[in-house]
Amino acid sequence: MLNASSHDWSLFPLRAARRAWRGVADSLLPPQCMLCTATVDEPGRLCSACWPEVGFIAEPCCPTCGTPYAVPVPTGLVCGACLKETPPFDRARAVFTYAGGGRDLVLRFKRADRTDLAPGLAAMLLAAGTELVRDCDAIVPVPLHRWRLWRRRFNQSALLARELGRLSDRPVWLDLLERPKPTRSLGRLSRVERRRVLAGAIRVAERWQEELAGKRLLLVDDVLTTGATVGACSRALRRNGAAAVTVLTLARVVRAEQGAI
Ligand SMILES: [Zn+2]
Ligand SMILES: [Zn+2]
Repeated sequence: MLNASSHDWSLFPLRAARRAWRGVADSLLPPQCMLCTATVDEPGRLCSACWPEVGFIAEPCCPTCGTPYAVPVPTGLVCGACLKETPPFDRARAVFTYAGGGRDLVLRFKRADRTDLAPGLAAMLLAAGTELVRDCDAIVPVPLHRWRLWRRRFNQSALLARELGRLSDRPVWLDLLERPKPTRSLGRLSRVERRRVLAGAIRVAERWQEELAGKRLLLVDDVLTTGATVGACSRALRRNGAAAVTVLTLARVVRAEQGAI
């Protein structure tokens, strides 16, 4: 009989069993849409009803940070935010906006234990960031502090980076960046405060410090919100001699005032 404590104890094996069962079920059933139960041709696809729910980012967008413009603009027009303050990375691109179906995809992957979505999401990253992947020497995931890693059980950025490396045949340096200090939620902080909180929270692991001179690195993360975290990663990589740092994320938060120039 299950009492409260044995129930707690059994949580982890239950999750593992559920994941294993999903693997068996996936191989027996026709592939399902990443967002609903509709049947699709191949795993890692969206059905025709869900596809329009995802706000895929297309040109025109800022050539530096990738923010989409809501109105037609001349090609190569840099956005106001990048003109005001040059980002610490060379370029950033995202597959879709963090809203509607795009947000649902990220949350399913990250919070609902749907690590099986990683190959399909990595294929989307590759399609949106073909040039960025082609031009890099290695792919680097944004690190998680070990407490958060323990709570979530996996680093979503590392999973995406690993799959992207497999698809593109690029090396993936999973342990290049480390996060020795836990950081509190950055949500309500100002730009300056965020930078202060993140300073020293992300660093290049000691064994890698001699290896980065002249390297072109591609940082991978799930969501770009304010750019503070990938900014801290980029600064750490540049301090250690990286020649170029680009950023590829699944989603990016686009505020109404950003979309229209
Ligand atoms: Zn669907
Ligand atoms: Zn920009």
